[in-house]
Amino acid sequence: MSRVYNFSAGPAMLPEPVLMKAAEEMLDYNGSGMSVMEMSHRSKVYLSIIENAEALLRKLMHISDDYTVLFLQGGASQQFAMIPMNLLGGNRKVDFIHTGTWTKKAMTEAKLVANVHVAASSEDKNFSYIPENYTFSPDADYVHICTNNTIEGTVFTHIPDTGNIPLVADMSSNIMSEEIDVTKFGLIFAGAQKNLGPSGLTVVIVRNDLVGKHGENTPVFFRYETHAKEKSMYNTPPCYSIYIAGLVFEWMDQLGGVKAMEEINREKAQILYDFIDESEMFTSPVDPRYRSLMNIPFAAPNDELNKKFISEAGKAGLLTLAGHRSVGGMRASIYNAMPVEGVRKLVAFMKKFEMENK
Ligand SMILES: *Cc1c(COP(=O)(O)O)cnc(C)c1O
Repeated sequence: MSRVYNFSAGPAMLPEPVLMKAAEEMLDYNGSGMSVMEMSHRSKVYLSIIENAEALLRKLMHISDDYTVLFLQGGASQQFAMIPMNLLGGNRKVDFIHTGTWTKKAMTEAKLVANVHVAASSEDKNFSYIPENYTFSPDADYVHICTNNTIEGTVFTHIPDTGNIPLVADMSSNIMSEEIDVTKFGLIFAGAQKNLGPSGLTVVIVRNDLVGKHGENTPVFFRYETHAKEKSMYNTPPCYSIYIAGLVFEWMDQLGGVKAMEEINREKAQILYDFIDESEMFTSPVDPRYRSLMNIPFAAPNDELNKKFISEAGKAGLLTLAGHRSVGGMRASIYNAMPVEGVRKLVAFMKKFEMENK
């Protein structure tokens, strides 16, 4: 068996101890005589799995009882549609801080049912920074941001103060990568496949007063209230993905929680950015003040070199380094599960490539 370092933006690497534990438990979970994939979601043994996952998530992110945690399906993209269905009030007005591809997609959905106001945008510089001057509509029902822009490689370093307007955050690519204060947010959502587990699971953390605000024509299935009342068991949840996410939470907890994760993530990103900054070949398109710890785009001086880099890196066991098609160049996604060693290997390879291709 040989495993590679996978720099994919998502689905992404999972911690090896988690995969090993899942393999061990594949045929017989905890004496049940069956795989977690084969169990009734209503069984006692499965209930303890989902309850344990929620408890660990709450512990790791310091989520109080003022918030409901939901384990849903449909990906972060379904939330782009579900959030306006559930959070719009009489004003039907949403403010966005527009920072790239994912806020654009969220706006497309919101525009179908709401008046969308762009409170700030970084489109003028190709989304290479995070705007810091915003003008929020006083009557907005909520403000939507994307805390880490997976494709562009930018991150919010200060969470905007929206006063009494609920702040909604797409944290798909940086949830649990650094400490955050949940109380600053009305709703946090994330597809699991970057930092939390396998695809198929979407985590929603919503302040209790925002549950039950849906319009009366909102389909029952798309109401947060429906899933909150049934503890994410209104219908069959993504059972196996929740189980793996629970193992990921256990792994994080043993490492020292989100604070410890953040320290490791800062170290990893620093190693890569330090090299990009000293390199005469590779450049970063992102304003250094807003560089993501998770997704790091970089490029060689021309497309021919980029292609050669991606191909040779692949042969060296460093995979999925092509940049998003809208940005080009390369992108290294170094989520929680990427070991420091993987980043060191990448930098050593970049050094060698630079020497050989001067
Ligand atoms: C990956 C990603 C999405 C889309 O997630 P799906 O689960 O595929 O719908 C949305 N927002 C951000 C920030 C992402 O990184």
